[in-house]
Amino acid sequence: TKKHKIAQYTVYSEELDQQSVYRLTIERELKSALTKQEMSLHYQPIIDLKNNRLSAMEALIRWNHPELGFIPPDFFIPISEETGQIVSLGRWVLYTACAQNKAWQDQGHPPIKICVNISTIQLQQLDFVQTVIEILEETGLNAKWLELEVTESILLVDTELLKNSLHQLKELGVSMSIDDFGTGFTSLSYLRQFSFDRIKIDRSFVGDISKDLNGKAITATIISLAHTLNMTVVAEGIEDDTQLAFLQGKKCDEGQGYYFGRPLPAALHDLTTVYKK
Ligand code: C2E
Ligand code: CA
Ligand code: CA
Ligand code: CA
Repeated sequence: TKKHKIAQYTVYSEELDQQSVYRLTIERELKSALTKQEMSLHYQPIIDLKNNRLSAMEALIRWNHPELGFIPPDFFIPISEETGQIVSLGRWVLYTACAQNKAWQDQGHPPIKICVNISTIQLQQLDFVQTVIEILEETGLNAKWLELEVTESILLVDTELLKNSLHQLKELGVSMSIDDFGTGFTSLSYLRQFSFDRIKIDRSFVGDISKDLNGKAITATIISLAHTLNMTVVAEGIEDDTQLAFLQGKKCDEGQGYYFGRPLPAALHDLTTVYKK
């Protein structure tokens, strides 16, 4: 049995080695990904559920590596946060998304918001607000068409710097939303003091609407509480009619998900389409 144990251990550590080699490769390749133009943005529509019109687009990063292939953001974003590379990567995302939204406006489309995911690490940079100001100036986008999405983890960083930054962004006219709401530990009333404009209900709850009653109870409660606190609500991950009908019945303000459209490169979006179903 001793031999057996050793053999098991060997297999296990080899697996670990392979994992850490892959991780190191990702870390290394991330450094040159921007200059080699391997990164791009896809955009996913966010629909106003009252009139079925496009109200915003969420920018989602895509990394297509020539040898490693497509690497999902859920995998490389956490690594880039640990190494600090998220700061330059995030700046590129913000610039590209704002420039794209300005381009849509210049093409004569009715103005919509562009929603950009911001890592907690980015928001903690001393010059984050200055970076946002610069990017709005460089791209010519009005601040009211920019929305920053942060996760509840931001609220664990309960610092003066954070409060100041959120306040300054608000003054600028940028809106703020809480992403993946319900997966963290925050209560809506706690969120309220940071004056977030919107919350996005995590898609795991939306997915449960068509499966069980808990999903319905949870989403309905989040919507009504958010409305009481004067926040608007976006439901993420809407995939079918049942979910949509339920959310509309509960007066959810906006929706996003494969039902309306998958994330696509800007060139493949037809903004003249009214998302009527
Ligand atoms: P997220 O911000 O919650 O983005 C929504 C994710 O749900 C996206 O995955 C999107 O493709 C997916 N999705 C949208 N509708 C549906 C649906 O109906 N069904 C299902 N099953 N999925 C749906 P994606 O693009 O793989 O992004 C994953 C996560 O990576 C994002 O979650 C976000 O946390 C992070 N991320 C993506 N781009 C960026 C970025 O530019 N900066 C930062 N900091 N994080 C990013
Ligand atoms: Ca998001
Ligand atoms: Ca989300
Ligand atoms: Ca997520």
